[in-house]
Amino acid sequence: MSIYTLVIHGGAGTILKTDMTDEKELAYHTALENALDNGSEVLAKGGTAVEAVRAATVSLEDNILFNAGRGSVFGKDGSQEMDASIMDGKTTMAGAVSAVQHIRNPVELAYAIMTKSQHVMLNGKGAYDFAVLNGLKTESDEYFFSEFRHNQWKQMQGSDEAALDHNVIVKDNSSSAKATADKKFGTVGAVALDVHGNIAAATSTGGMTNKQFGRVGDSPIIGAGTYANNKTCAISCTGHGEPFIRAVTAYDVSCLMEYKGLSLEQAMNIVVHDKLMKIDGEGGMIGVDAKGNAAMVFNSEGMYRGMRNSEGINEVKIYK
Ligand code: ASP
Repeated sequence: MSIYTLVIHGGAGTILKTDMTDEKELAYHTALENALDNGSEVLAKGGTAVEAVRAATVSLEDNILFNAGRGSVFGKDGSQEMDASIMDGKTTMAGAVSAVQHIRNPVELAYAIMTKSQHVMLNGKGAYDFAVLNGLKTESDEYFFSEFRHNQWKQMQGSDEAALDHNVIVKDNSSSAKATADKKFGTVGAVALDVHGNIAAATSTGGMTNKQFGRVGDSPIIGAGTYANNKTCAISCTGHGEPFIRAVTAYDVSCLMEYKGLSLEQAMNIVVHDKLMKIDGEGGMIGVDAKGNAAMVFNSEGMYRGMRNSEGINEVKIYK
């Protein structure tokens, strides 16, 4: 088989056309196109799905527009803790990192954990030390600082709420205040099928604004935010992490395909529109299977997303 497919997301949530300017919309489109360029270049040259999801995710992590890597949101204590994971569908090997700070590309750390350690997940200081030992890039607080993110957190500081990046809840509950709260940006992820018939998935996030110090979302949890297995599918999720963890979301799609014989899209629709909805799990996911099927499914207002394949599909979308 010599087909390839790459699907990416930049987060789901209350993303409305009415909140967007032409300029911002163009910036998102460009960022998503760049990530598709970087990932599909790997696939077109015969590179692996793992290399492609790394390349696409790094591109999104380096872009301040998204809540991952450089653009990570602030937690309750003003820190920026990041989570990421990667999984290789050929081997079902996986690597993950949680609550890590100052790492430029958490997905690269997850990859290093998968390929250079005997573990699946490292967290906090141990993860940071492992990154330094393996020569990964670190950055100062300034690199991760943006006025926008800081203001977003300030709006919630002192409250016990944590919010999806796109759904920041403001202390002032008036409709005008809600309307001015910025509801954009998001977690990032990529799934790919390479020309060798192997699939992979990666997800990276700064988590939720005003989250508790030490809180870990679904993104680094294998089976919840990320899963890949050549037998079934590669999935990367975005949304309110707690319900996604409770629903073992990404693995559930794989189970529905494996045990019930459902197609990728049927399984994703059941999980996103039925199972997650029943437990208030707002968000979405992207998926591919080893046959070249791909889907992008969400139950929120929007999801930054894009797809490119060897058959000429090339699309970037934001809204429903
Ligand atoms: N799923 C992420 C988390 O809960 C947030 C997101 O997808 O935007 O940490």
